[in-house]
Amino acid sequence: MLITTPTGRILIDCGPEMRLQLLAAYVPSIDAVLLTHAHADHIHGLDDLRQFTFSSGNPVDVFASAQTLKRVTHVYDYCFKDTGPGGGKPQLHLYELNYGQTIGLAGITIKATRHMHGSLDVTSFVIGDRFVYCTDVSLIPEETMAEFEGKDVVVVGAVRPDSKPHASHFVLPEALDVLNRLAPRLGLITHMSHSFEHGTVEAQLPKNRRLAYDGLIVSLSEHGISLAGPSDSDA
Ligand SMILES: [Zn+2]
Ligand SMILES: [Zn+2]
Repeated sequence: MLITTPTGRILIDCGPEMRLQLLAAYVPSIDAVLLTHAHADHIHGLDDLRQFTFSSGNPVDVFASAQTLKRVTHVYDYCFKDTGPGGGKPQLHLYELNYGQTIGLAGITIKATRHMHGSLDVTSFVIGDRFVYCTDVSLIPEETMAEFEGKDVVVVGAVRPDSKPHASHFVLPEALDVLNRLAPRLGLITHMSHSFEHGTVEAQLPKNRRLAYDGLIVSLSEHGISLAGPSDSDA
C-alpha cells in the first residue's frame, strides 16, 4: 500500500509485484518503507527499490520490528556488505520500529501496533489520526483494538470469503466482526486469496464495507473520504 502526503510517499510492504504496481501508478520516488512482517509476499520486492536509490542518490529508509529486520538482513545480506565492484544494489537504511512507537514521516505521524498472524507478531499501523492498516492478521489484542478505535478508515486482511477458520489469517466474517466493532466510516478488506469472487462477495457486504483491489485510491480530506480506481470509475 502506498501513502501519499503533500510532502512525500511512504510504501507499506514491498511484495514481489511492487515494481509493476508502482510503474502502473506512475510513482517516481519513495521516501520510506514500512514493513509489517518478513513473509515473502511482503518483502520480496525490496531489491527493486534500487531504481529509486539510483535516481535520487539517496538511500531508502526502511522501518520494521527487530524480528522483521533480522530476516531482511538475512534475505538481502548482499545489500549490507561489500560485494566488490559492479552490480546494482539498493541502498537501504534500516530503522527498528518498536510496538507502541510513533514516528513522523512525510508530514504525518505513524504509530506501530502489534497483532498476531498465527504465532507470529506482525506490525499494524495507525496513520495520522484517521487511518488503520492491519493485514496478515488472525488476532488483534485488546490494547491494539483500543488504538484502532475512532478512525475513519480501517483496512483489515481476510484470506477467504467463507467462515471456515484459517490458522494464520482472518476469514471474511472475522474481519467484518472487527469492522463492525470499530465502526469506521469506511472498512476495506485486503490480502484476499483467489477464493474471493470480487463482485459476488462485495455485493453481499454491509454498507461502507468494501473489498480493496489493485489500483484503488482512497482520498481523505476535511470534506470526507472518496474512492477512485479502475473499478470505481467504471461504475
Ligand atoms: Zn504473512
Ligand atoms: Zn501476506
